[in-house]
Amino acid sequence: MQKEQRKKIGIMGGTFDPIHVGHLILGEKAYEQLGLSKVLFMPSGNPPHKRDRQGRAEDDQRVEMVRLAIKDNPHFQLSLAEMHDKGYTYTYRTLENLKRENPDTDYYFIIGADSLYDFDKWREPARILACCHMVVATRNHTSIRELEEQIDYISHKYSGHLIRLDTLNIDISSNLIRQWLKEGKSIQYYVKNDVLEYIYEHRIYDAKKAEEEEKEEDTMETINAQTLSKMQKKLHKYLDEDRFMHTLGVMYTSASLAMAHGENINSAQVAGLLHDCAKCIPNKKKLKMCSQNHLPVSEFEKNHPFLLHAKLGAYLAEKKYGITDSKILNAITYHTTGRPSMTKLEKIVYIADYIEPLREKAPRLEFVRKLAFQDLDECIYEILKDTLNYLGDQPDKVEKTTREAYQYYRSIHRQRMEEGE
Ligand code: FE
Ligand code: FE
Repeated sequence: MQKEQRKKIGIMGGTFDPIHVGHLILGEKAYEQLGLSKVLFMPSGNPPHKRDRQGRAEDDQRVEMVRLAIKDNPHFQLSLAEMHDKGYTYTYRTLENLKRENPDTDYYFIIGADSLYDFDKWREPARILACCHMVVATRNHTSIRELEEQIDYISHKYSGHLIRLDTLNIDISSNLIRQWLKEGKSIQYYVKNDVLEYIYEHRIYDAKKAEEEEKEEDTMETINAQTLSKMQKKLHKYLDEDRFMHTLGVMYTSASLAMAHGENINSAQVAGLLHDCAKCIPNKKKLKMCSQNHLPVSEFEKNHPFLLHAKLGAYLAEKKYGITDSKILNAITYHTTGRPSMTKLEKIVYIADYIEPLREKAPRLEFVRKLAFQDLDECIYEILKDTLNYLGDQPDKVEKTTREAYQYYRSIHRQRMEEGE
């Protein structure tokens, strides 16, 4: 009988803050030497108390940098299995989930030599090794003999299978790269060009930026209080009465959700107020405006031009209403489709749009409204589930991003069910 062909998939975990060529070379060498079918790059979530630390990238920025770094390599793939609101996911859980979902796959978990010496301190080492082969890369400051001894020790202690990767030592660390950036030194060639541009464009590791933002935040509140009513009046001219009433509902609901979940109330109000500012533009004109202003339009959006009110809304919010806060603009952009790993503000506006007081058609509204004030991730999951049910989950009816968002929030939901939360 012919033996069933098992899949071999590599996993590169890490914070990737930022991702550098050392990570990429390691992934490539593992792919080559172990004959893998692909390598998943899996950015780990930060525990909530570790977020927003100065000089560190935000979660969505780390994800974006990984995406940019691996996009030209057909056998590298981004995995968001460890990125979600609750921050931390233990490796053994991620691996056990993957194993359960893909029993025909052998996983190769790739780590640096340094991690091998901490491995005893990881949560549930034996369960990790029961799910994967562990691939260990060498580093300059570790001798091969010493490393072999540690590999022996770990594999005996937890009866696992460890493989030493035979690769040239590329001794770079993300830590060092952040340090150099802070000192204004060049990091060219240490990270891919796209990543480098992204870092500079968003000033990710720029200490001065954090200071500037703090100052900005101090003055933001009064500006918003004064301009909010002006914005409302202006908006009223561009929306029909029903849409305007819906908009006010979303604004107040967003503000209430912000209060319940500790988000900036002003940002939530502004995002809620402007989320549909492009809604009443005729579809043909929407398409025209997008092409005039170089906003990308997908094939799906061409066939469903009403969806464009979201990205066009963000565009108008910036150009006509003077909104510069990218968090608010993103909340407008993703209010119709959602997306994986949404920010808190994005979730709030997405949910408020669905539950505001004048909405009446959606199923299970009472349940969803209550849930919105208790748990944003669960609420997003339930809304996406109902939405896909309603649309029948057909590729021609559902935006790809929406399906990805559903899968993402379903995996969080399942994981939490298992943990008995
Ligand atoms: Fe909308
Ligand atoms: Fe809306």
